Amino acid sequence: MTERMGFFTDTSVCIGCKACEVACKEWNQLPDDGFVFEATSYDNTGQLGASTWRHVAFIEQTRTVRMKGDEDAGVDRWLMSSDVCKHCTHAACLDVCPTGALFRTEFGTVVVQEDICNGCGYCVPACPFGVIDRREGDGRAWKCTMCYDRQRGGLEPACAKACPTDSIQFGPLDELRERAEDRLERLHADGRPEARLYGESPDDGVGGAGAFFLLLDEPEVYGLPPDPVVTTRDLPSMWRWAGAAALSVAGVVAVAFSGSFAGGIAGFRNGGRR
Ligand code: SF4
Ligand code: SF4
Repeated sequence: MTERMGFFTDTSVCIGCKACEVACKEWNQLPDDGFVFEATSYDNTGQLGASTWRHVAFIEQTRTVRMKGDEDAGVDRWLMSSDVCKHCTHAACLDVCPTGALFRTEFGTVVVQEDICNGCGYCVPACPFGVIDRREGDGRAWKCTMCYDRQRGGLEPACAKACPTDSIQFGPLDELRERAEDRLERLHADGRPEARLYGESPDDGVGGAGAFFLLLDEPEVYGLPPDPVVTTRDLPSMWRWAGAAALSVAGVVAVAFSGSFAGGIAGFRNGGRR
């Protein structure tokens, strides 16, 4: 495997222009999302899905803050965050795929091959982030590939290339983690104690994400699970239990069978008399 590559999405400099969404759609030739108008938000795509592999979430809030002159006033606050597949170190989507359509690339990312996916959908509930999705009218599962084709050609993913503020940074994961720590320190020094990293730690429930984030509030505010856990974590012990249970059932059946077989032989020897 070559060096593990990843995304660092610094939401503190995102301006919500959605260039990343558009670049992703254009490069990957993704279909439209149905031209629905949300009406509750300026966001027009709503969420990640089979045809939206980068989604810029708009968190539109009205908060009461103390303004100069000591008056409490409501202000509008927008948090923006370009969400994407996390390319987990322990990827449950990959664990449950029965056809091998999902695989780990030489860059350490997780990719689904559309010509092998049979549309069973096992990967959809397995993902702790609700990322992977089946496409209506097609049935197969689709998600971000971190532009596998571009990476193989020595190019950065389309979203990172298009981002005008460098909110999306692409590169070797270890280097990105260092860059993220520096940025976090700077924000804290600038009086933003609420800034935090999300998904960067190899000790978290998915073994760390290949796509991690700098957030300006709790993960839940952005619709992210605060403590994600790989959903296949308990599978090895479940298989052990299932194996042990199957062996005991087989043992009981064997004992019962040998008992009735012995009884049958004895009956036969007695000329069928009871
Ligand atoms: S975020 Fe979901 S779809 Fe992406 S690698 Fe992790 S488990 Fe798979
Ligand atoms: S292109 Fe960059 S600045 Fe624009 S929405 Fe995407 S992440 Fe934010």
